[in-house]
Amino acid sequence: MNAREPRDVLAAKRDGRAIPPDELAGFILDYARGDVPDYQAAAFLMAAFIRGLDQSETLALTRAMVASGSTLPLEGITRPKVDKHSTGGVADGVTLVFAPLAASLGLAVAKLSGRGLGHTGGTLDKLESIPGLKTALKAGEIERQVDAVGCAVAAQTADLVPADGALYALRDATATVASIPLIAASVMSKKLAVGTDLILLDVKAGSGAFMKTPAEAEQLARQCVGIASDWGRKARAAVTDMSQPLGDAVGNALDVAEAVDVLAGRAHGRLRDLAIIFAAEAFSRLGGTSMGEGRGAAARALDGGAALERFRLMVEAQEGDPRVADDPWSVLPRAPVVQPIVSQRDGFLESVDAEAIGRASSRLGAGRKRKSDPIDPAVGIVFRPKVGDRLGQGQRIGEVHARDDDAANEASRAALATMTISDHAVSPLPLVHAWCGA
Ligand code: URA
Repeated sequence: MNAREPRDVLAAKRDGRAIPPDELAGFILDYARGDVPDYQAAAFLMAAFIRGLDQSETLALTRAMVASGSTLPLEGITRPKVDKHSTGGVADGVTLVFAPLAASLGLAVAKLSGRGLGHTGGTLDKLESIPGLKTALKAGEIERQVDAVGCAVAAQTADLVPADGALYALRDATATVASIPLIAASVMSKKLAVGTDLILLDVKAGSGAFMKTPAEAEQLARQCVGIASDWGRKARAAVTDMSQPLGDAVGNALDVAEAVDVLAGRAHGRLRDLAIIFAAEAFSRLGGTSMGEGRGAAARALDGGAALERFRLMVEAQEGDPRVADDPWSVLPRAPVVQPIVSQRDGFLESVDAEAIGRASSRLGAGRKRKSDPIDPAVGIVFRPKVGDRLGQGQRIGEVHARDDDAANEASRAALATMTISDHAVSPLPLVHAWCGA
């Protein structure tokens, strides 16, 4: 038990005083053991959200979260090891593509992922829409799978970073997600618990991200990279655009189907491009090649079927139905109502409120309001236009997948309301704003 009462720790942060690292660590470890209840942890999160955490508190929080469970040194894996993490976005299926893609390039990816948070989707929720697939893997299972297949995507369990698992869900329910130190500690605890040669971070900026501007996202990126360097680990962070959905699918099964299309070389666009950029970054940094060679190798792995084959093996190893790799809709759950979204006017897409699309999808059932809520894997929104695209009145620009007509009508109206359409040509948005880190 921590030497100091939890309420003293809370009072210090409430009053804007720094919490000594050992007391903060004690509070978090007590919470992870169940000795501090959710309501006190929630009060801590709100105080930290409002008052902020300084660098040594953020590092202490990160360390405590790592120390709340066992770690995964991956010492038995001889291939170069890379991990990648996104701070969360809308239609952000990069991990679903990146993990098998990097594995197909000879790298090893052992990734601890999160669930949907706020308006953003979660890789675990998406993967679990594949019938049978389990993400609660034990440390030994992850290592064996990475050795055999090259990649594994798993949840924080009672073994791995359990404090982050609990706090992450509590933050979602208490509107305390969009805090730079809380996100940095959460992301980095999962990355530092796994022994890798390179950590890649995708720090999202824009309407669909927790950080709304590239400048804020860069601050988060620098904080994450700084935590890695304090631990003697190599990390690179990209600040990437999330001012519109990255891919087209905003749901769970829908995202898996889209990822399979990218892995099979059938789908082109920003999701594929970003997955290639991260895979090339990993391949070139760990393999000593140029970025150009890395991009070429990644594109060939997508177009030639090697990445899809790794995905199939990963799904199979995690007890999911491998037929998802050949014909996703033969196994994925489908919503009973599929309603087209139709553009109401001619013009050029100028902006999209990606958070509002994420929220509309969440209201359909694709996300959760409380940490214990189940999600509906089948529902969501497919929204295809990207900023700069020319739209015609009456053009089908996507579909709502819903449980009933009322929910579909509401989501379709909400999706259309997120768009600003201009009469004048609009330039497409950059995909990557900046890189930082070693
Ligand atoms: N991703 C995480 O792992 N943690 C956060 O807090 C936000 C995004």
